[in-house]
Amino acid sequence: MIQIQQLKLPITHSKEALETKISKVLHISKEQILSYRITKQSLDARKKQDIHYVYTIEADTAIDDTALVKRLHNDSIRYMERKPYQFLISGTKKLHHQPVIVGSGPAGLFCAYMLAGAGYAPIVLERGKTVDERQKDVTLFWKDGILDPSSNVQFGEGGAGTFSDGKLNTLVKDTFGRNRKVLEIFTAHGAPKEICYEAKPHIGTDILAKVIPAMRQEIICLGGKFLFESCMTDIRITDNRISAIEIDHKTWIETDIVVLAIGHSARDTFQMLYDRKIPMEAKSFAVGFRVEHPQEMINKNQYKEAAALLPPAAYKVTAKGLHDRGVYSFCMCPGGYVVNASSEEKRLAVNGMSYYKRDSANANSAIIVSVTPDDFEGDTPLAGVKFQRKLEETAYRIGDGAIPQQLYGDFKRRQLSASYGSFSSVTCGNTAFGALHDLFKQDIYESFLSGMEQFGRKISGFDREDAILSGVESRTSSPVRIHRDDTFQSAIKGLYPCGEGAGYAGGIMSAAMDGIKAAEAVASFYQPMMD
Ligand code: FAD
Repeated sequence: MIQIQQLKLPITHSKEALETKISKVLHISKEQILSYRITKQSLDARKKQDIHYVYTIEADTAIDDTALVKRLHNDSIRYMERKPYQFLISGTKKLHHQPVIVGSGPAGLFCAYMLAGAGYAPIVLERGKTVDERQKDVTLFWKDGILDPSSNVQFGEGGAGTFSDGKLNTLVKDTFGRNRKVLEIFTAHGAPKEICYEAKPHIGTDILAKVIPAMRQEIICLGGKFLFESCMTDIRITDNRISAIEIDHKTWIETDIVVLAIGHSARDTFQMLYDRKIPMEAKSFAVGFRVEHPQEMINKNQYKEAAALLPPAAYKVTAKGLHDRGVYSFCMCPGGYVVNASSEEKRLAVNGMSYYKRDSANANSAIIVSVTPDDFEGDTPLAGVKFQRKLEETAYRIGDGAIPQQLYGDFKRRQLSASYGSFSSVTCGNTAFGALHDLFKQDIYESFLSGMEQFGRKISGFDREDAILSGVESRTSSPVRIHRDDTFQSAIKGLYPCGEGAGYAGGIMSAAMDGIKAAEAVASFYQPMMD
């Protein structure tokens, strides 16, 4: 197979133009190209007068690939062996009970998918409801403010990612092909095939809501089982090994393996694991506000005249804020919605979401300031949870139960906003103007302001007076890390901390890949149940 990199084409090019270009750079006719596959498509918008797509292509030709590459003498063209991802089963130990995976977010779901496919017949335990049922609860919450603590934006089938922008990019290195495997599994269950090559793939909450149940159906067909509205409330440890888990304070399931894919919001479960002396530590994360701008302003900044021809633009900004704190954008949602993403009574947290089309009027992202365990009260592993809860309680109080908002200009002057400026907020959930300037301690407040000012120099209008802030962004990553060793197990054998909640991932893709790694770790030790 031949790989061609750096294939540049105008933003308005056709499929035919791409094929012509491939044949041109390979110096062969179109008929001699047996097949080709786009493996990467990125938009180069560094020079605003010359915005273009850059492709990486893999092609099979009717002539000898190695000889062709030698003849071409082009550094962007090389011969490549295809190396598909392989799930290896080398374990010899016998399992006495089905493995249990706690959590059906990306980490748990992909772990279950791989284990089910290899004959391990996993049981997936999920405290929330199926996507369909969960959507009803979330819609009711956004409309009337009635929160179901077990079925919300954080909890339920698909985990925290179900109501999301569905960004599928990750910075995790992928020498084993896990990243590609995740994207292929998504496309096999209804996601658009473009995600396999776009540099910044995204599928939106609407497509995720169809893909996740399709994956569940396949896991069930392969011998897996799902228990919804079933919360793991305790664990039993025998001779330093996990031996059973308790569901809803009532029943126990015996098991040799528990994959802990519980996400970053399972605070009661963190507490239970801490009480059971599972080794863990507090970890750094970041806090701040969701910030909204008109999408048109971002498009013009990023693409100038070409904006009309391109999809809604994204951005990524980072700065060194005052007081030595990092300030950066996170989970940017072009054409997105600010959502009430709370999961606990009388505590309020926000996040961002979008549909596949990304067609709302506003761009939003979390602008967040790094915090470390030094910022937390006390030094227990759960001190970060306490810190988050306090912020979320204040946010709830400031907005009297609704999402508290403030215009950036008023936030700077520490005065309440009375109305929106030249554009309005696009929000899922009720909103109320409130004193967000009182939410954080002074140095975090000042770091945030210094970050916004610097971003205003990078993206014109970013620090405009009527930019809309919503609070509070407190669930940017897990406040704890649950320790695991090289075999992916905790000091308690058979317990596999996994995904974002355990502190090993941040985002849908990295959580899914960590789920696959946990499945590989199980398969390297144990034989399948259904050999
Ligand atoms: P989670 O997805 O949090 O899943 C954990 C699951 O475990 C939950 O379903 C929970 O109900 C269940 N659970 C917890 N405790 C128990 C228990 N004791 N018993 C039974 N079940 C339990 N990331 C991106 O990469 N791109 C995005 O565009 C993006 N947008 C987001 C938008 C929103 C609104 C939110 C909230 C998050 C977004 N994220 C995004 C982050 C992403 O969703 C998470 O990084 C990812 O879901 C983490 O996966 P996970 O499987 O580790 O945990």
